Amino acid sequence: MVRKHCIVGAESLFAQQSQHANSAVPGESAVAPDSHVAPVAPAARLLPDDPQADALSLIREAGLVGMGGAGFLTWKKLEYGKGASVVIANAAECEPLLAHNIARLETDAERIVSGLIIAMRIVGASKGIVAIKAKNVAAVASLQTAVQSATHSALEAAQGSLDLSVFFLQDRYPAGDERAIVRDVLGTLIAPTSIPGEAGAVVINVETLLRVHEAVVDRKPVTTKDITVAGLIDGSGYERDTSIVLYDVPIGISLREVLAALNIAEPGPDAQLLTGGPYMGNAAQLDDTITATCGGIMIAGPEIPDPGPVGIIVCACGASEERLKSIVAAEGASLAGIELCKNAVRLPNGRLKCANPGICPGQAQAVLALKKQGATGLLIGHCTDCSNTVMQIAPKLGLRVHHATDAYLRAGDERLVRSFRKTQPATAHG
Ligand code: SF4
Repeated sequence: MVRKHCIVGAESLFAQQSQHANSAVPGESAVAPDSHVAPVAPAARLLPDDPQADALSLIREAGLVGMGGAGFLTWKKLEYGKGASVVIANAAECEPLLAHNIARLETDAERIVSGLIIAMRIVGASKGIVAIKAKNVAAVASLQTAVQSATHSALEAAQGSLDLSVFFLQDRYPAGDERAIVRDVLGTLIAPTSIPGEAGAVVINVETLLRVHEAVVDRKPVTTKDITVAGLIDGSGYERDTSIVLYDVPIGISLREVLAALNIAEPGPDAQLLTGGPYMGNAAQLDDTITATCGGIMIAGPEIPDPGPVGIIVCACGASEERLKSIVAAEGASLAGIELCKNAVRLPNGRLKCANPGICPGQAQAVLALKKQGATGLLIGHCTDCSNTVMQIAPKLGLRVHHATDAYLRAGDERLVRSFRKTQPATAHG
């Protein structure tokens, strides 16, 4: 099932706040009539005429950073990536509730493919692959049309043949982790301390590729960010099972201003606010501002109380230990203990990385350890596979299980992560 989303052009939204999201049809995946989304030009005109037009300098001058969340300088990533054989466009968008990357592919696939081709030329890669989940049918269709169009245009313009393809990822979290993508697309598992360059790859988020196109072809600096607003969105005119996608929100505007423009009531004292997605997001305040790496604004109600004591298992690709502790406190429970997923590796800089993202190493040891420490409930932030494993063990031991994403998924009327579901195997190149 693909979650419903609506697309709103932020330019007009912030210019005329009275014409807010109600101008689009609630519950439908459609471009709002007041959207600023530009008509897409034919692919031939989108391909950069001069591949040596110092695209790297234009990207650097535009101030572009990775918009998938990491925030690494894009020009540096491409500079370091020189010599890679493949550029992978990351369209996994695997955080639940977020929808802005997929929406962009539905409406702007040609410009994203153009950004991919520019990145390929900068690093000298012969291959470009877009990694996406097959469930995003409309985005996949737009993407395939854009890939065909770019391929034909390159041939017509005698720019040589283009090796562009689409790879279907499994529908699981964290399919969009850089090392998970390299493993799934290329079959190479790189070490937690390594980068995709070790496998001859550069991985770039699709919104970043759109901005690469804008920097190089349109000579446009980075001043805006696409985001998703979801959860308790009462007042916006949309049902809670809809993710509101805002294109081109001005960087620097406050969360309060974004919610006001959408007529969403300010969260009360019991409510919770995150920037980013429900897994990896950070607790936020209304006066925090939209940044180049902000993926969304998530609003949730209070956590469900637990009598405790509650034990925590920390995932390298999920909520931080601090956030998990604050959830236990919000549940009104005492803390029984803290365990790490066996796959979570502590790097010299203190950050956690998963040894094999999204592939469960077994959770019995951590669950039993916490039970021994007196836990009667568990709080996890695990990936899909490990959440399934915990759910196969913990309830049999009489443990109540909470997931860090629960409050946000409940607020967004979305299925909870810890519910067991089978993931479909990845399919080959499309
Ligand atoms: S295997 Fe463990 S550390 Fe890795 S993503 Fe899953 S829960 Fe997180």
